[in-house]
Amino acid sequence: MTRLDLPVSESLSHQCGQSGRTTRLLEAREVPLGGIRGILVHRSLPQRALPMVGAWCFLDRFDDEEVGMKVLPHPHIGLQTVTWPVEGSIRHRDSVGSDVAVQPGELNIMTSGYGISHSEFSIGESDSPLRGLQLWVALPRDVADIDPFFERHTDLPVYRTDGLRATVLVGQLGDALSDATVYTPLLGADATIDAGAHVTLPLETHFEYAVMVLSGTVEVAGTPLDSGPLLYLGTERDSLEVSSADGGRFVLLGGVPFAEELIMWWNFVARSHEEIVSARDAWEARSIRFGTVSGHGAERIPAPPLPGVRLTPRRRQP
Ligand code: MN
Repeated sequence: MTRLDLPVSESLSHQCGQSGRTTRLLEAREVPLGGIRGILVHRSLPQRALPMVGAWCFLDRFDDEEVGMKVLPHPHIGLQTVTWPVEGSIRHRDSVGSDVAVQPGELNIMTSGYGISHSEFSIGESDSPLRGLQLWVALPRDVADIDPFFERHTDLPVYRTDGLRATVLVGQLGDALSDATVYTPLLGADATIDAGAHVTLPLETHFEYAVMVLSGTVEVAGTPLDSGPLLYLGTERDSLEVSSADGGRFVLLGGVPFAEELIMWWNFVARSHEEIVSARDAWEARSIRFGTVSGHGAERIPAPPLPGVRLTPRRRQP
């Protein structure tokens, strides 16, 4: 997916991060996604009050029964994408030769490094349900320019405790360790809790965490949570109390607070205005930097115009 709605840099203050333990509800905003028949997505990251959770720097939820997804080739730098369908499947094609059907329960993680391009189309009839998440992981400086690659994990580890099962996409929850490649201490897990269950999940005190409910109602750290908002939990927790009267499904994201200042513009994560301009120019010039996604001819998403001011990093408050 791409983020066509943000032609200007998000220059944000990190008002939540590194604040210690907290519980703060953050509403998603509705954003039209690119494509001929655009879909509306619910964007929870970045937002002014919370640009990132660990290295997670982008979180979209798509939940649309009416309109298929058709996102033409577009570029990325400096990040990894995680496409996590809950219902329906998506054809992913990219410039390193991948052409896969992204299915529920399977992790597809694309590491852009220096440059990659990809397309994402829903599979099936245009009125087939398509629900799921699209996430980005910011790459730290020392690997931001590596060669791009694509990974698929069809046998993800599952953390189990009485009344809860959690598929671990990246990182580790309890004894369940994903072998998906990430470059900072990070967790992404998709958990289902039974009706009437009360569970204590093991956390890392130096991580910050957030929870989003996908279905049902779940009480997290004493806060009742329906599908929609993101509950930011801060750091300094070694465990998390989760319960549900009627059962539910939720995503738990976590990671060590990301120390570097980043510029996010369009589909790029970088550290300077010049890096963004260079990547934009390369895409517009059809440079080999971003390769070719086969099957689309000359069709692609053009870069939006740059703003008339220098892009500056977001600031993370101490
Ligand atoms: Mn994308």
